[in-house]
Order: sequence, then structure tokens, then C-alpha cells
Amino acid sequence: MFLTISTSGDARNPATDLGFLLHKHPDRTQAFATSHGTAHVFYPEATPERCTAALLLEVDPVALVRRGKGKGKGRGGAPDAALAQYVNDRPYAASSLLAVALSAVFSSALRGVCNARPERAARPLPLRVEVPALPASGGAGLVRALFEPLGWTVTATPVPLDVRFPAWGDSRYVQLVLDVPDGRLTLGEALRHLYVLLPVLDDAKHYWVSPDEVDKLLRAGDGWLADHPERELITSRYLARRRSLTREATERLELVRLADADDTDVEELDNAVAEDESDTFDTEERPVPLALRRREAILAALTAAGAAHVLDLGCGQGQLVQALLKDARFTEIVGLDVSVRALTVAARRLRLDRMGERLAERVTLLQGSLAYTDKRLKGYDAAVLSEVIEHLDVERLPALEYAVFGSARPRTVLVTTPNVEYNVRWETLPAGHVRHGDHRFEWTREEFRAWARAVAERHAYDVEFVPVGDDDPEVGPPTQMAVFTQAAREEVRAA
Ligand code: SAH
Repeated sequence: MFLTISTSGDARNPATDLGFLLHKHPDRTQAFATSHGTAHVFYPEATPERCTAALLLEVDPVALVRRGKGKGKGRGGAPDAALAQYVNDRPYAASSLLAVALSAVFSSALRGVCNARPERAARPLPLRVEVPALPASGGAGLVRALFEPLGWTVTATPVPLDVRFPAWGDSRYVQLVLDVPDGRLTLGEALRHLYVLLPVLDDAKHYWVSPDEVDKLLRAGDGWLADHPERELITSRYLARRRSLTREATERLELVRLADADDTDVEELDNAVAEDESDTFDTEERPVPLALRRREAILAALTAAGAAHVLDLGCGQGQLVQALLKDARFTEIVGLDVSVRALTVAARRLRLDRMGERLAERVTLLQGSLAYTDKRLKGYDAAVLSEVIEHLDVERLPALEYAVFGSARPRTVLVTTPNVEYNVRWETLPAGHVRHGDHRFEWTREEFRAWARAVAERHAYDVEFVPVGDDDPEVGPPTQMAVFTQAAREEVRAA
């Protein structure tokens, strides 16, 4: 299996910088052991004007067969099927194995990381990729449909079955040449296209498709897959047509698309939160912002519950995550939000990139939606939903309820939401208005309690209510909080 990547350059931007970008020196031939055989990297040409890196994968077909068997994919049956295990095209054709080798050998380049030439890694460059024998299920037409929307010029020439007998027609292989002029793609983007699309064209994954393949696909597809016209075919084939994985990937890609389309920019978000923080209420002397009182109430409830592993669901810009980090009792903190932009601000606020290792180990930010079950959220002591439920349409609440109380099931769940009765006490809030433009609803104390009690009942939790902010004798507190605790086992059984 063979693939080459070429670029051109000049004295100022020599083509040989490709060596830095790939982290492989142009003067050397190097070999790497990968899970399917030995990968060789070498440069057939390396001048300032033109540089070509070649990746050659020597597949060990016997090891491949053994691996396949170990996974319980026994083929059995027809005698020639047994033979096919040994006589196959794997060693010669570029395929999913080449993609695996690509990611093993060029992992930093694939991620767009280049310490020696960081500015070069971020800059597009002219590229040519050649694959002499690419199994292309779907033919040259599909090759074009996959690569052209990404900016590549595609030349896919069908390879005849046997040059001596033209009447036999074409094989399922194409000779592929991909070109992209300068200014369109970085090397990292180009490699990520290949990493995903080579196996898609092969349409026969030769390694086990585990659930984390979805993460790998979304990581490699970042920035191009969500909007690709063939998104569904790519997702389904990449995940070896495993339907549940394909569904998960499709849903997560849809979220990425939505989040990207939502063009509230970071500044707007900053303002929205600033507004939220200034939800002050009038105690005579020193008004304490309501947002701060909310955080204090949440920290107190988490401490009382003895929680150490905590989820902040709908973490927004990470203020609570930051407060939790300051308390060593919280040993694992996960912030999740649907908004990529909010997470970007959170990462900046927390200075995630400059944080010491010990702190960094305690915190993770995840993108995801509470409207879908998410395995990543299982196994925590507590989850906080601070001012989040009112941002979902009421019809989506049952989905959130299931994702949190049915699937993730932390021992403790804290939910805060505005108490609409209190709105009459806000001097600046015109009657009948909600507190924030994005609130889909605001509930009275009775409405919130009815919802919370029904949730607790359905999922075997106990629930108590805690006022946050001054508890007005007439209209109640500005914020209401429900503290859910998993009902003791005996009680569940008795129920
Ligand atoms: N918890 C923070 C932010 C509240 S604002 C605080 O108390 O200050 C509500 C947040 O919920 C926003 O960041 C919004 O992006 C997020 N959100 C809305 N719908 C969501 C969903 N379906 N899944 C995850 N987060 C969501």
C-alpha cells in the first residue's frame, strides 16, 4: 500500500518544510511498527521547489487474519472463503489500514501540530496526493463526490482488471490523484480528509469498530464533515454501517452544525453573562449578585452531599467550574455545554492551556447536548444544572430528564431555575417579561415543584427544595433550587 504527498515551494518557503510538518526528516528513511505491519516513510524527492513524502505500508496478511479471527468474526462456510483469508489484496491496495498507518506515523501532523514551524502548520499550502491503487467501492464518481466538495481537484482513473485483456473491464480500483492549489487547505486538513475518506471508499473496515470510533471520526471530521453533502454516507461507511454508532455520530454532527450556525459571538455571550451576574437584588447595604448567591448555594449543597466527582451540565462560560476547582474536595470536574463558543470562553477563563498538570487533571470540558443520552456522563457523584432547564423548549425536557436522571444517574442532582413570581420585585423588569432573552419559560414555585416531584417519582429520587436569595414572604426567592438524591435501595424495592 502506497501513498505520496507532495508540495511545491520556493527559496522563502521551501517545499522541504514538509519534513518539519510531517515530523519526518527528508534525508532519512524511517520505519515504524504499526498494528498491521511495518510503515516506511521516505522522500523520493526533496528540493526547495518540490518535495514528496511517501508512505509505504507492508501489511502482514497472516497477522491480519489472526487478528480478525480473535475478534470472533469467523467466516467459516465455503472452502474458498478460508483461502480468501490468505489470498487477498490487502497488502497491495490502499485501504483502511493505510489510514490507520497514516494516523500512527503522522499523528501530530494530522492534528495540525508542529512545534518547529507552528506558523507553517496553520498555513495552507499547495498539495498533491497520489494513491496508485485505491479500492473504491462506488467508483470514480463517488471519489469525486467525496473529495471535490472539500476543495480537491480529483483525477480518478479506473484500473483495468488485466491490461492484457481489456475486454475484462475495470477492477474496483482507481488510480487516484488529488490536487489542491495554495490557499485552500493546510496539511493537517488534507491528512484528516484522507484519514476518514480512504476507509470510506474501501468500505471494508479491517479492524474492530469500537464505540470510540465515533470520537475519532468527529475529531478528524472537525471543520468539514458536518457540512459535507455526503455526510451520511461517510458516517455510515466509516462506522462500518453500525447503526447505533452512525446515529450517535449523525446527532453529534448536527449539534456541531447548529452550534456553528448560531452566530452569537463570544462578546454577545460575555454580555449575556454579565447581565446575568448583575441580577442584583436590593439589600440596603451591599447587594450580593444573585449569580454569586447561586454558586454559594450550589457549593454548599454539593459539600453536604459529599460529592467529589461533579458534572456541571450547561456549564456556560465555566464560572462554577472555576469555583469548584478552588476546592480540593472536588477531585473531578466535568463541564458540558452544547455551545462551542461558551466552551471556548470557559477554556480561556480557566486558562486551560496554561494550567498546571495537577489542576488540569481535575477538569474536563465536553461539548454535548443534554437532549441526548451520553455515556460520558455516567458514574459521577453529582450533577448541577444551574439555570439551564429554562433554556430548553418544554417539549425537550423529557429528553433532558431521561439523559440526566435515567441514563447518567448521579447520586445527587441540583437544578436551579428562576422563580417567575419574583419578577414583580425586579424594578427594571417590565411586567410579563422573562429575565433573559433565551429563556423559553419561567416557572412559579408550584410549577417547578410539580415538575421536580414527577421527575423524582419516575426515576427513584427524593427531592427537596431550597430557596436561593432572599426568600420574599409573598413571592418567594428569586431563584429556586431542587436537590434530588437517589432514593435508598430498600425504598426503591418497596415502591
Ligand atoms: N450554568 C451556567 C450557564 C447557564 S446559561 C450558569 O449557571 O451561569 C444556560 C447554558 O445552557 C448555556 O451555556 C447554554 O449553551 C446551555 N444549554 C442550552 N441548551 C443545552 C443543551 N441542550 N445541552 C447542553 N447545554 C445546553
